Amino acid sequence: MPFRSIIGHQRPIKWLQTAVKTNHLGHAYLFHGEPEIGKRHTAKALTQLLHCEHPPTDSTPDACGTCRSCHQVEQAIHPDCLLIEPEDSQKQNPKIKIDQIRAIEHLVIYRPLVGSHKVCLIDQADTMTTEAANALLKTLEDPPDHCLFLLISSRPEHLLPTIRSRCISLRFSPLPTKDIHEFLIHHSAMESNDAKFIASISEGRLGQALHLDPKDLKIKLRQYWTLLFGEHQTSEAQIFDISESLVKSNQASEAIQWFQQGLRDLLLLSLEEENSPMLFREYEPALRQLAKRIPPLAILELSQELHQLDRGQQRNLNMQIGLEQFFFHLHDQLDPA
Ligand SMILES: [Zn+2]
Repeated sequence: MPFRSIIGHQRPIKWLQTAVKTNHLGHAYLFHGEPEIGKRHTAKALTQLLHCEHPPTDSTPDACGTCRSCHQVEQAIHPDCLLIEPEDSQKQNPKIKIDQIRAIEHLVIYRPLVGSHKVCLIDQADTMTTEAANALLKTLEDPPDHCLFLLISSRPEHLLPTIRSRCISLRFSPLPTKDIHEFLIHHSAMESNDAKFIASISEGRLGQALHLDPKDLKIKLRQYWTLLFGEHQTSEAQIFDISESLVKSNQASEAIQWFQQGLRDLLLLSLEEENSPMLFREYEPALRQLAKRIPPLAILELSQELHQLDRGQQRNLNMQIGLEQFFFHLHDQLDPA
């Protein structure tokens, strides 16, 4: 996918195009920002530009997207490019291992066959083991002239500071909801209402928006609406049951995200921000009633509690107790004795 087909990210793309045009491309870049917003597409577009066999003659540097080299880059089989990513990335704790980083030595040993650079793209670079990161650091300390390293990460704080400091850092921001909506309308079979719904739930991540199924999400929307503001709020025994079952079915994290969205919608109505995109739009009348009963400050406190709970997951906080407490506090607000 050449630069011109990428949605958004004009600033980092322009930066890269200018660097190529003026012969100022660095040896190593770190593309960072939320997951699935287009960092990897941009890295591939840059790689295509450096290897394209028939680049268009416009004044803006870009690849053709259709020549043999462009296809090879797209499929990650170009002889001058190496794509490194965690093995078995679906697993809970994916890692990039030292053997994968050692493959760079074979890549950089000869000059490029077609284009100007050998490109090493490291996706989810923050998942490198300590040994792998140290091995990469050695290469970055003395990079061969014809090499370009593109590191991609949504958690750059997990990279060694010494690696970060050797990369030119380019930040990628989430896309505006309306851009995702428009893209879905023109590039998927989704109806406008579904596209709007998916755009509002995807939090500016186009990659995620394309994977989401509006039917599944509507089922979840109903399910989490009931858990958050449904009748169970009146029974303590049900609060214990729900918290336990969310944790046992590994849904605690997902539930926290949906609850956050529900509280956000409630806050928007409470602050009379009627026209902002709302995820729980179909429950607007019920949300309006709730907004009269809970003051904005209390909504913010509840949201903060969820945020702490979400962060606590990584520190093995007892999620069941945390969820129970959240529900009790919510209950106190909804139904003060
Ligand atoms: Zn091409």
